[in-house]
Amino acid sequence: MKTLSVIIPAYNEEEVLPQLIERLNEVSEKLDRYAFEFLFVNDGSTDQTLNLLKELNKQDPRMKYVDLSRNFGKETAMLAGFDYATGDGIVILDADLQHPPEIMEEMIYWWEQGYEDIYAVRKKREGESFLKEWTSKTYYKVVQKMTPEKVIPQAGDFRLLDKKCIVALRQLREQERYTKGMYGWIGFKKKEITYFAEERAAGKTKWNYSNLFKLAIDGITSYSTVPLKVWSYIGFAISVFAFLFLAVEIVKTIIYGTNVAGYPTLLAAILFLGGIQLISLGVIGEYLGRVFVETKGRPPYFIRESSQEDVEKEEQHDESSA
Ligand code: UDP
Ligand code: MG
Repeated sequence: MKTLSVIIPAYNEEEVLPQLIERLNEVSEKLDRYAFEFLFVNDGSTDQTLNLLKELNKQDPRMKYVDLSRNFGKETAMLAGFDYATGDGIVILDADLQHPPEIMEEMIYWWEQGYEDIYAVRKKREGESFLKEWTSKTYYKVVQKMTPEKVIPQAGDFRLLDKKCIVALRQLREQERYTKGMYGWIGFKKKEITYFAEERAAGKTKWNYSNLFKLAIDGITSYSTVPLKVWSYIGFAISVFAFLFLAVEIVKTIIYGTNVAGYPTLLAAILFLGGIQLISLGVIGEYLGRVFVETKGRPPYFIRESSQEDVEKEEQHDESSA
């Protein structure tokens, strides 16, 4: 029997947990050809989430948990999930039931057909503002243009990954993570399916425009060097323009004599170039910041306790004792 690990990052999700567990139990009963493991990653919740998880683990040993030492964010919580999951296949699921667990059946079908990364693309996000939908759409268009590997728009973390993908993802240990780009980068055989996103079952979203903006910047700066390189082209174009402008001015001065006016053009040129310089400095700063964070080589997360051992450590242990 194949095992499936369902990774569920949870940050202050006490309100939805009971509903989620009910749905997960139903689904696992239906898909009884597989052994399930539900691995909750408690991402530094400040409510009763952890206690609920411990309680669940006592009642049902399939419900496992990893407790991170603080809130590291969903991207890192997922990495912890990859490290601790033991299944032959892994499904990543949001705790708030926006990812209907029933879709797993279809994912498993394609998995059995030999696909290694079956990702669900949401058809419509209900209960989401127009602005959020629009910004998300435009953002993915920009990312698509700038990155060599494809980031599939509207495809989130809701997907079934074969063990092979997980072994690959475990090795990508950068701190400022953008997992959506990693799925594309690691390769493997992909299959797209669709689902209808529901409204969050209970509780509040943990995203706001500030952390979405940070994730958006991470998405671009971790996969693309286009923003770094584009300045040389812009600089070159401005230099050519400035040179031509100067030539015209010289000719004009020779023909019509000196002209003291020109204060507006001067100011415009200075401001324009000043702006460009500041923007390009900012871009370099973004990348330098990433380099700074990554060169420290810190582990991406720490755990306080877990209901099971780190898979990789376990494997190393087996090897040394053998
Ligand atoms: N989440 C997390 N750590 C965080 C923020 C969110 O583990 O710092 C989890 C959260 O519990 C949920 C998932 O990530 O399971 C998606 O979060 P949310 O529903 O708030 O995001 P949205 O669906 O609004 O994009
Ligand atoms: Mg949600």
